[in-house]
Amino acid sequence: MTTRQRITVLGATGSIGQSTLDVILRHPDRYEVHALTGHSRLDDLLLLCQQHRPKLAVVATATDAAAFSERLRKAGLATDVLHGEAGLCEVAAASEVDAVMAAIVGAAGLRPTLAAVRAGKKVLLANKEALVMSGALFMQAVRDSNAVLLPIDSEHNAIFQCLPGGYAQGLAAVGVRRILLTASGGPFRETPLAELADVSPERACAHPNWSMGRKISVDSATMANKGLELIEACWLFDARPSQVEVVVHPQSVIHSLVDYIDGSVLAQLGNPDMRTPIANALSWPQRIDSGVPPLDLFSIARLDFHKPDEQRFPCLRLARQAAEAGSSAPATLNAANEVAVAAFLDRRIRYTEIASMIEAVLAKEPCVVLDSLDAVFDADARARRAAEQWLTQASR
Ligand code: NDP
Ligand code: MG
Repeated sequence: MTTRQRITVLGATGSIGQSTLDVILRHPDRYEVHALTGHSRLDDLLLLCQQHRPKLAVVATATDAAAFSERLRKAGLATDVLHGEAGLCEVAAASEVDAVMAAIVGAAGLRPTLAAVRAGKKVLLANKEALVMSGALFMQAVRDSNAVLLPIDSEHNAIFQCLPGGYAQGLAAVGVRRILLTASGGPFRETPLAELADVSPERACAHPNWSMGRKISVDSATMANKGLELIEACWLFDARPSQVEVVVHPQSVIHSLVDYIDGSVLAQLGNPDMRTPIANALSWPQRIDSGVPPLDLFSIARLDFHKPDEQRFPCLRLARQAAEAGSSAPATLNAANEVAVAAFLDRRIRYTEIASMIEAVLAKEPCVVLDSLDAVFDADARARRAAEQWLTQASR
């Protein structure tokens, strides 16, 4: 009998966290849960603790921890409760943990994800914002610690599956010409441009193919998500921005492709269900059942491809510019986008102002080299302040 892998799920109460736990439940012989973390959805966290009986749970504050401990005791569970960023980093780096699912949304996930990397864990990376903010430092930490970094983002997991083992030597060394990053185009692919200023958060969050958390759903609608993924792909696969082409593919059946110099193009296909990349990364280099039904090509019948329209999706253009500028530009873009999306979800700005805010913050903030984690968080904080200022400007 093989020993079971012990897993920490950072962001267990979220969409990726719950999909991860669904896959884990299907394989009790292979995986056990060491720790689960939540932030605001503590009722869900309690249910997950009852189902998975983790050794540890992590919540936001000391007050939450005391109350949550009490609820666990009443439910007859022996789970201990930690809190705050220190608690998240502790369960990410714990010596008994084999693999960490990094599925906290946004910049809040950076320190815990890096803690897992520095402890040399197998790191299943969903939290793309962490890599976008701190790419050079993050990848250096992966090399220094020999952590195994496996992409969960469906596109990057697809690319990973289409690349040969030696790709870490560089894309040219394995004969790759370019990466084709697919995008669904989101809910507003065909909405008349004049209507975009008035779309509601509910419409922006109603993705045609994927069920996801609210922040990434808005990012998918603006295609800021594809922009973040372009930057993510450059770091994961050591590619230049010019080597990554975005292809709009509305059916979300092909999850990305790799174009080789001999003319071969390899693609990974599957139903749009995050349990496939999660199962792939959890069990890598083996394969396990994910619960995803087989792909029915006859019912799909056709696959379409279009060039992205940068007038409709200015966030994609801004992200490509930030990728090309490098240094702190991606961290600035990410922070401005996080503030803009939160403001849009709170109905403080219009959908079309998300891109305006990012553009204004990128224009205002200097591009500086990020040679330490403090420098990354400085750039992040400066961009957030600039975004908040933009929000309060009556003249905008
Ligand atoms: P959700 O919003 O569904 O979940 C986010 C998780 O992060 C929740 O567990 C939430 O806790 C927790 N969280 C939020 N804020 C904090 C904080 N300040 N400190 C600690 N924990 C926090 O998001 P998703 O699951 O959709 O996305 C998670 C990550 O995965 C994102 O980076 C996203 O870009 C990426 N991703 C998601 C995909 C998807 O299909 N959903 C696909 C590809 C990538 P709580 O809910 O308890 O407040
Ligand atoms: Mg994706």
